[in-house]
Amino acid sequence: MSFRITYSVLDADLSALHARFDEALAAARAGLGAELPSWIAGEAYRGGVLLESRNPARPDELLASFHRTPATELDRVVRVAREAQRGWGATDWRERARILRRAADLISERRWELAARMTLEVGKSRLESLGDVEEAADLFRYYAGQLEDAEGFSRPMARLSPNEDTRSVLRPYGVFAVISPFNFPLALAAGMSAGALLGGNTVILKPSEEAPWCAEGLYHALVDAGLPPGVFQVVHGDGESLGAALVRHPGVDGVSFTGSKAVGMDLHRELSTGRVRPCFLELGGKNPAIVCRDADLEAAIEGCFRSAFGLSGQKCSALSRVYVQEAVLNDFLDGLVAKARAAVVGDPSLASVFTGPVINESSVRRFERAVDEARRDGVVRAGGERLRLDGPLARGHFVAPTVVELSHSHRLMREELFLPFVGVTSFRTLEEALRLANDCEYGLTAGIFSRDADTVERFMAQAEAGVLYANRRTGATTGAWPGVQSFCGWKGSGASGKGGCGPYYVSQFMREQAQTRMG
Ligand code: NAD
Repeated sequence: MSFRITYSVLDADLSALHARFDEALAAARAGLGAELPSWIAGEAYRGGVLLESRNPARPDELLASFHRTPATELDRVVRVAREAQRGWGATDWRERARILRRAADLISERRWELAARMTLEVGKSRLESLGDVEEAADLFRYYAGQLEDAEGFSRPMARLSPNEDTRSVLRPYGVFAVISPFNFPLALAAGMSAGALLGGNTVILKPSEEAPWCAEGLYHALVDAGLPPGVFQVVHGDGESLGAALVRHPGVDGVSFTGSKAVGMDLHRELSTGRVRPCFLELGGKNPAIVCRDADLEAAIEGCFRSAFGLSGQKCSALSRVYVQEAVLNDFLDGLVAKARAAVVGDPSLASVFTGPVINESSVRRFERAVDEARRDGVVRAGGERLRLDGPLARGHFVAPTVVELSHSHRLMREELFLPFVGVTSFRTLEEALRLANDCEYGLTAGIFSRDADTVERFMAQAEAGVLYANRRTGATTGAWPGVQSFCGWKGSGASGKGGCGPYYVSQFMREQAQTRMG
């Protein structure tokens, strides 16, 4: 293959890719049903109640069962992490970077196996899964480069007298809890963990209960790359029980969380009681696109379609609100509706399928409630139904890509749904469009389609979101990549101020120390 798999691959000859993916799927399916552990102190922990990982396209297909870590084991997990941190924090930064780079190479080497499992576990299409795996490897490399470029984050400072020598040194916090969501099960677990590990912290990863199998792959890549025992541990279990207990544990020095705003806000409150601890939050979105009358309408329709319905709308950067200038509203809607109706929804392990299921039954119910409201208060132009597919997919969590005309003030235009559901409404002036796009508690990504350079610049200056795109056919609001688009949630979408994928990421996981030595 002569191209790189990112989330923006559009036109390429994918035949070799599909053949290789087919082989990896067959191999993954041949090993289904295993009982897999949590990983504590470098050893398999098998004493817990089992957590089942099932295929959302075929819920009857049990992929693997995982031993949960009981909350009563957390004291030991944290103690191990603290002990391991002494050695890891003192390890030369070059060695930390070398191990992470080696892990990146292992992830790349294992990309087919990891992507096939991901498609089975969270229902991503082939390209989305391969992109997620490549992103994980690229994040390791990009973040290792930050440590190398900054020479371990130690730099000389000014002197107040001739016989003093002062350095500013970034030092680890200690033990980080990393809590990751289901939708980028490798890239986000890997990216947050890499930031903490490169900074000299040890990590206790609590992956999404919907994606334990992907976390298993991450664990092996890191350990096979030479990470010492106890530096990276994986505990499996539910968020409300195990995740909450982990975050509350007094031996945890900081938390990196990516997930929903509701959970993130709870964690933030928790981390600010007693002693203050760092809490990096990357949260949800309700991302808008503005389509102006001078836009390349075909590009706008393609870009909006891909961002609204790729991964069945389950991206934090997914497009969920479109503001279209009155003169082109009907043409835009006709185009988007036609594409939504033609999109192939089905088993994401098949090459011919554009998008797979939503993650679980509760997402289907959320979809049905949203559609009921949309029928009552707006016009459903495409989709709106649960899809009952045949044969082994009959019990899958499939819903149709849905396009709805709704007024800006409607609840469904404000709250994150995390579904293939996009609301469209019209605007008259650019000023109005910017006001509507910004009138939202979230501020993650936003896009505009216009041929006018001044319009684009006004959007760049005034849009209240951390990631902005203009005229992006491959995705109006989605598709950020490490070292290209920093991914930083503004407003209710995050509380880090420095994004994943961006140049300032690793240093957040370290605290500054001034060291003055008198001669
Ligand atoms: P979620 O908030 O339900 O769960 C995320 C993680 O938190 C899971 O591991 C879960 O087990 C854990 N958790 C749940 N309750 C907890 C608690 N009380 N204490 C501690 N941990 C708890 O999110 P999800 O459904 O897995 O993922 C979707 C959400 O993530 C969406 O809101 C999406 O926008 C957001 N997201 C944001 C980004 C970003 O970079 N900003 C990226 C991906 C996903």
